[in-house]
Amino acid sequence: MAEVLVLVDHIDGVVRKTTGEMLTAARRLGEPSAVFVGTGFDTAKDDLARYGAAKVYRIESADVTDHLVAPTAEVLAQLVQRTSAAAVLLASSTDGNEIAGRLAIKAESGLITDAVDVQAGDGGVQATKSVFAGNFATVCSTSHGSPVITVKPNSIAAQESPAEATDELVEVSVSDGAKSARIVERSEKQKSGRPALTEAAIVVSGGRGTGGNFDPVEQFADSLDAAVGASRAAVDAGWYPHSSQVGQTGAQVSPQLYVAAGISGAIQHRAGMQTSKAIVAINKDEEAPIFEMADFGVVGDLFTVLPQATEAITKAKG
Ligand code: FAD
Repeated sequence: MAEVLVLVDHIDGVVRKTTGEMLTAARRLGEPSAVFVGTGFDTAKDDLARYGAAKVYRIESADVTDHLVAPTAEVLAQLVQRTSAAAVLLASSTDGNEIAGRLAIKAESGLITDAVDVQAGDGGVQATKSVFAGNFATVCSTSHGSPVITVKPNSIAAQESPAEATDELVEVSVSDGAKSARIVERSEKQKSGRPALTEAAIVVSGGRGTGGNFDPVEQFADSLDAAVGASRAAVDAGWYPHSSQVGQTGAQVSPQLYVAAGISGAIQHRAGMQTSKAIVAINKDEEAPIFEMADFGVVGDLFTVLPQATEAITKAKG
């Protein structure tokens, strides 16, 4: 069976949920092989085996880990050539999409970004994309090389399938050009105590309708163990950090549940959340476009609706 390379999404060996989702998807296409770049492999290895990685290629060289994404793309291209991989799966994140683009050029392969599903089809690997505010699903395939596919987090349910993974420390050779951007310092981001926006199963976002008061949004999010997002209007006003912006020029999220409070539903906002499994909108204007895509809508003032919902959820949780 042909190998399917999965670039492990992790922080110091703490594997992100996306990795389990990608390994699950990879099993449909061939034999999943994880590519682990960085430190912390001992922490990650049980998770990789749990989701069926039959092999792990470890890349620990400072030529890769001390630089931005270009060396990772080069090393992946070398692995694609060596293994004649049936496909390469990466997380659809800023880094993942950049590595994928560089890799596709180096490996002379077709590229599909933001897939919400992958399957083995008649003509080879096929990927499903959700387009036009989630109203259409397109199935696409590539015509050249090993398909390089970025997969949206939370799109595929991760299923365990334990495997005995063997691991190999890969000798890398990285060009000087790829090493031209070096990481000179790393500092840990202050933790909010909430799940990461792009990984969270539930996201509660606030918009201009909050008037700058995100307290009810945050309290509701905390009652659901959700991440907090924001529209660009809220971010541009300085009410919430840019890293929380959802949309075309912000984060792309695909949670099980997305709650939009005081957000009108502009196309650029939809572009970042349209693949959410269920969408709830709270808006005092019943004509707001967000209601066109909502599975459940509440016409009302968020300052009334959210505290009531928070109280009900807290009570139900006991
Ligand atoms: P508004 O459109 O002003 O909507 C506020 C809503 O709140 C209204 O529907 C109102 O009825 C409701 N409301 C007011 N008070 C209350 C209340 N008390 N209770 C309940 N509801 C209330 N936007 C993004 O979000 N993400 C992006 O990544 C993004 N990228 C962009 C890229 C480009 C190139 C451009 C041109 C625009 C982009 N935008 C993006 C901006 C986008 O077009 C909208 O301007 C923005 O999404 C509007 O944010 P909003 O819904 O919070 O504000």
